[in-house]
Amino acid sequence: MALMKILQYPDPRLHKIAQPVARVDDDLRRLAADMAETMYAAPGVGLAATQVDRHIRMIVVDVSEEKNQLMTLINPVIVAKDGEAVHEEGCLSVPGIYEKVTRAELIRVRAQNLEGESHEFDAEGLLAVCIQHEIDHLDGKVFVEYLSRLKQDRIRTKLLKQQRETM
Ligand code: ZN
Repeated sequence: MALMKILQYPDPRLHKIAQPVARVDDDLRRLAADMAETMYAAPGVGLAATQVDRHIRMIVVDVSEEKNQLMTLINPVIVAKDGEAVHEEGCLSVPGIYEKVTRAELIRVRAQNLEGESHEFDAEGLLAVCIQHEIDHLDGKVFVEYLSRLKQDRIRTKLLKQQRETM
């Protein structure tokens, strides 16, 4: 297993649209394991393949306290949603920035697992937020894009400055 480099906003590669996974094989399972290791090391509660510059539809999520409920979702789709909830979100690609975002409160998700089997489940609370946030990444969208233009500009300037200073 290996830690992967996480792209940092405003890297334009974060806006690429991820392609569907055609085949679940050992290469994909290896990538999923590396993504999980990278997420836990960060530490974070979710990571999309887009964030490690692999533009395929796969995300890893673990919102548990004990970090023992890893979910790997391949080709995830939200098939139903209900309600609205506001949560403060952060992102491994946007370090140090936390902002409130409104999303669906309940979602039903369809995805494949690491055996290639399709399944459906309901999610709420932090898990629902996290899955919606990660699927956005696959669609080339970063959570700060829900904010006002002014806030986005301020975040962009701040992060570019940080990135220059750490280079
Ligand atoms: Zn993110």
